[in-house]
Amino acid sequence: MRIKEAHIYAHSLPVKNGPYTMASGAVWSLDTTLVKLVSESGHVGWGETCPIGPTYAEAHTDGARAALRLLASDLIGTDATPGKLRRHLDAKLNGHNYAKAAIDIAAYDLMGKSFGVSVADLLGGAVTDRVPSYYATGVGAPDDIARLAKEKRGEGYPRLQVKVGGRPVEIDIETIAKVWEVLQGSQMRLAVDGNRGWTTRDALRVSRELPHVPFVMEQPCNSVQELEMIRPQLNHAIYMDENSVDLNTVISAAGAGLVDGFGMKVTRIGGLTPMRTFRDICEARNLPHTCDDSWGGDIIAAACTQIGATVKPELCEGVWLAAPYIEGHYDPKNGVKIIDGHIERPTGPGLGVVPNESLFGEPIASFGG
Ligand SMILES: [Mg+2]
Repeated sequence: MRIKEAHIYAHSLPVKNGPYTMASGAVWSLDTTLVKLVSESGHVGWGETCPIGPTYAEAHTDGARAALRLLASDLIGTDATPGKLRRHLDAKLNGHNYAKAAIDIAAYDLMGKSFGVSVADLLGGAVTDRVPSYYATGVGAPDDIARLAKEKRGEGYPRLQVKVGGRPVEIDIETIAKVWEVLQGSQMRLAVDGNRGWTTRDALRVSRELPHVPFVMEQPCNSVQELEMIRPQLNHAIYMDENSVDLNTVISAAGAGLVDGFGMKVTRIGGLTPMRTFRDICEARNLPHTCDDSWGGDIIAAACTQIGATVKPELCEGVWLAAPYIEGHYDPKNGVKIIDGHIERPTGPGLGVVPNESLFGEPIASFGG
């Protein structure tokens, strides 16, 4: 299965009812980047990468596009089998996982469409076609977030993530306490995501003042060293998100018992090839995790859902999608949606979605053909 053509597209995704707020700032619109691979047999595969602004991670739109131009220029005639392709990409460019991920996802889609099987089958097989999602609130006033928590509980979400940080910690404490008042007694699980925004002092204070609230503390502080400092003093389980930039970090954190689980982004770790290894490492250590991405349309949503469907159910913390914040779908028929807090896995070949590529206009770069 050799690659005959590679095309890169740019596409704007405005935030519906924006902005979306995190400790690191607010975003109103995101620029996503899509990759289309065409094989010598004429099959087509799509990938996508969409950093959520330039401050969430060490990734940004123009960086992804520059890396993808460099990588795509050397793809023509290359074997698209994902494992081999991964080594080819690593030999061409060091790092830049978030860009390589778009090519890796496209290769899985291409392989699935070529073999007539879904990406979940290629990743080991789906254990469910109804994948749990979770809702992330954004940083907001305590009463507003509590109201939203009640609404999302009613919609059937199995899990809620409350964003905190970037403001006085007293407001975060009040927010978590008010959210718990409306979730208590339900089966809905609660995560509190600092997005690196708390000091160790703040994280320890929140844990000390809310010992009765069974939340998971997600990426409270900026660095691995800060997580090491607070770990022995916390009353709460701790998940790593932004710091888990590659498999090496995941192996180290899991091996050292530094964390109780992960929020994981498919593009941050480099695509579905490293993501399936990550999934298996977590299963070996019984560590729960999500299968998300920071932002993106139907291609990213389908990739996250396909891998999420293969995770051992007891360890699956859900698949977060940007879909509720995006107008419309790339694939009008099989676009990936959240219904009653869950996602129906697209079951067609490959990712199960076929974008209407006229939405993306002319490619910003094309190779081969
Ligand atoms: Mg997170």
